[in-house]
Amino acid sequence: MRRVFSQILNLFFPARCPVCNEIGQRHLHLCEQCEKSVERVTDRCLGCGLPRTGCRCSHNNFSLCLASPFLYKDNVRNAIHRFKFGGETDLSTYFGKEMAECVAFEFGDVKFDVITCVPQTKRKRRKRGYNQSALLAKQISRELSVPFNELLLFKTRETADQHDLRGKDRLKNLKNAFAAENEDAVNGKTILLCDDIKTTGATLNECRKTLLKAGAKAVCCTTVAVTPEKIT
Ligand SMILES: [Zn+2]
Ligand SMILES: [Zn+2]
Repeated sequence: MRRVFSQILNLFFPARCPVCNEIGQRHLHLCEQCEKSVERVTDRCLGCGLPRTGCRCSHNNFSLCLASPFLYKDNVRNAIHRFKFGGETDLSTYFGKEMAECVAFEFGDVKFDVITCVPQTKRKRRKRGYNQSALLAKQISRELSVPFNELLLFKTRETADQHDLRGKDRLKNLKNAFAAENEDAVNGKTILLCDDIKTTGATLNECRKTLLKAGAKAVCCTTVAVTPEKIT
C-alpha cells in the first residue's frame, strides 16, 4: 500500500537528484552521474575545512574546526543556489544528511550539547522568507539527535553581503556584528555551528569567537560546501 502511495506521489511530484535536479532518482541520493562527478572533501584539514593538499590555514589567523562534505563547485554550487535563492528548501534534507554524516565521521567522539546556525538579519529573513542555515541545522539535529537552538546568536546590525566585499573589508564588515543571545544556553556547552557555504571563513570565525567569548566549552563548524579557490 505504501509503495502504491509513493508511486502515485511520484507521478505528481517526481523525485529528483538533489544536485543536478534531473528527474528519476530517489530524493535522498545522487544520480549515478553526480555520484561520480561531485567533488567531496576527502582527507580534510579541520582548521580550514579544505583538503589537506589545498589547505589555506597559513593565510588565516584562525582555525575553524570545520567539517563540510563538498567542494563549492559545479553542480553542488548550482544546487546550493537553488536552495538559497530559488526557494527549494527541501534540499536541506539531502544536504543535512550529508553534513551529519561528515560531522559523525570527523567529530564522532565529540558529544555536542546543542546545534545552532549563523543568524540572519531581520531584513534578510523578510526578503528570503527562511534562514537556509537554520533549515540545515534542523536536519542535522534530527540526524544526530542533538537539540537545535536557533537563538544562541543574533546579528547586532545589518551588514553588507560578504560576497560583495573583498579582503579586509570582509573582516571589517563583520566586526562585532554578532552577539550571544542567551549566555546561559551557551556557557559550558559544546556547540555545533552550521552555515551553508564557507568562503573565507570570516563569518564562521566571528560567530565561533562570539560563542567562545560567551563561555562555550568548544565550537565545531559544518557547512554544505567549502570554496576551494583563493578568495582575495
Ligand atoms: Zn544528478
Ligand atoms: Zn587548513
